[in-house]
Amino acid sequence: MPDPNGFLRYDRRLPARRPVPVRIMDWREVYPPAGEELIREQATRCMDCGIPFCHDGCPLGNRIPDWNDLVRTGNWDAAVESLHATNNFPEFTGRLCPAPCEAACVLGLGGQQPVTIKQVEVEIADAAVARGGLRPQPVPAPTGRSVAVVGSGPAGLAAAQQLARAGHAVTVYERDDALGGLLRYGIPDFKLEKRHVDQRLAQLAAEGVRFRTGVEVGVDVTAEQLRAEHDAVLLACGALQGRDTPETPGRALRGVHQAMAHLVAANRVVAAAGEGKPALATLPDGTPIDAAGRHVVIIGGGDTAADCLGVAHRQGAAGVHQLDLYPEPPADRDAERDPWPTWPWVLRSYPAHEEGGERVFAVAVQEFVDDGTGQVRAVRIAEVTVEKVDGRRIVTALPGSEREIPADLVLLAIGFEGTEEQPLLGQFGVARNGRGAVDARPDWQTGADGVFVAGDMHRGASLIVWAIAEGRAAAAAIHAYLGGAGTLPAPVDPARQPLAAR
Ligand SMILES: Cc1cc2nc3c(=O)[nH]c(=O)nc-3n(C[C@H](O)[C@H](O)[C@H](O)COP(=O)(O)OP(=O)(O)OC[C@H]3O[C@@H](n4cnc5c(N)ncnc54)[C@H](O)[C@@H]3O)c2cc1C
Ligand code: SF4
Repeated sequence: MPDPNGFLRYDRRLPARRPVPVRIMDWREVYPPAGEELIREQATRCMDCGIPFCHDGCPLGNRIPDWNDLVRTGNWDAAVESLHATNNFPEFTGRLCPAPCEAACVLGLGGQQPVTIKQVEVEIADAAVARGGLRPQPVPAPTGRSVAVVGSGPAGLAAAQQLARAGHAVTVYERDDALGGLLRYGIPDFKLEKRHVDQRLAQLAAEGVRFRTGVEVGVDVTAEQLRAEHDAVLLACGALQGRDTPETPGRALRGVHQAMAHLVAANRVVAAAGEGKPALATLPDGTPIDAAGRHVVIIGGGDTAADCLGVAHRQGAAGVHQLDLYPEPPADRDAERDPWPTWPWVLRSYPAHEEGGERVFAVAVQEFVDDGTGQVRAVRIAEVTVEKVDGRRIVTALPGSEREIPADLVLLAIGFEGTEEQPLLGQFGVARNGRGAVDARPDWQTGADGVFVAGDMHRGASLIVWAIAEGRAAAAAIHAYLGGAGTLPAPVDPARQPLAAR
């Protein structure tokens, strides 16, 4: 039984991050391991609260109090087993999840700091590797049914692993040259070193999952061919259609790019360096895109913007501004607006924000300013107010508030507009809805029989924890569709939304 007084004896503590001057000289992760003593102490803060709201905060329904107590008592093998019972990839969520479970921790209700759930999770995940590696599960007798998974992000990989473990023959098709979706070339190494992705892929391969990289479904192989070769298809193609701002004067100038162009180029350089190959950060057409010595302006306030910030510092930017349309959020939960246990609107500072740069809130770009040669030299911004009227966002510039910020590299990190319009959609006979996503019926099938959808492609740009949860649930639905024996776990249904007051 957990220690009901642990939180009274210990304050919340996280391991110190690597020092900024050291870590911006490399691409390694910013957090060192916590160490057993600290993590056991922190797991002890989890009390026996009776109704663990953290379960509802986590879309995977991770059994958080169970594994906290197993860590507290030093029962690491059982903790590894308990965590993997609900989460295929805790090494990803333990590093990258914003931890809605912590916002729902009952300690927060009494004005205490929540348990460091995510840190305990990553320590358990890493213990699994340290204590003998990610051993493949025994392969069951083949069912004789086969499934194509399109897209190798966390949704596709979670589904593939669940289906392979149920005895189905699974092939994952990925158009990129390497597997992992956004985990591979979207998210930088200082947040997730790619060895974690490679370790997990090796486990999936050993469990029988087949991978075909460099294959764009809809182009290199048609939907018809895929349907002929497989009994069911799961679409997990992500939501990679970057939002743009074509109406802003100067958008076509050189030096103004989508954030993903910058991140993918930088990640490819790091990947090449890991293989001992020199590489330049370039766009697919060879145009250089590197922040070294440049004044960088990042437009947007989310994960993508913070990742661009960390990359810009490591590339040696001369200076970085990060612009946000919205006012600076409060430091603490506003209980009227976002009562516990919902996810609060508060100022979120990522490790990248410790590394430098200036955050500017409540401003909007009025123009990308030309240096006279077709290259951006500045952004002209104005202070703004933002209101919602009939569900529409109205942005009003304050007269006389305009000013210029020097910029020779501008990165648009203003969100995503759903899954990309691509040949695969028409070939399978599925359409994007008004949000650019693909709707699923309650059994995760699209409008096309035997064609399922999961992850960002269904939910819109979201989180890794949701992608894994949807991948697991879609796998359960596919298993039922194929007439598989028993049932697989389905942590969410397609209509499930995050905990919210409104
Ligand atoms: C820069 C950035 C940082 C992020 N940071 C975080 C974070 O810190 N924490 C967090 O929880 N979430 C984060 N996210 C969100 C998270 O990465 C996504 O929610 C998650 O990866 C979605 O998983 P998915 O499997 O649905 O799709 P994706 O990871 O997008 O994978 C989709 C895959 O499908 C492939 N594909 C598409 N079309 C085809 C086709 N026709 N044929 C073959 N393959 C195809 C794509 O190449 C891609 O590999 C971040 C997102 C971005 C952009
Ligand atoms: S996956 Fe995310 S929400 Fe779930 S327990 Fe881990 S950190 Fe919390």
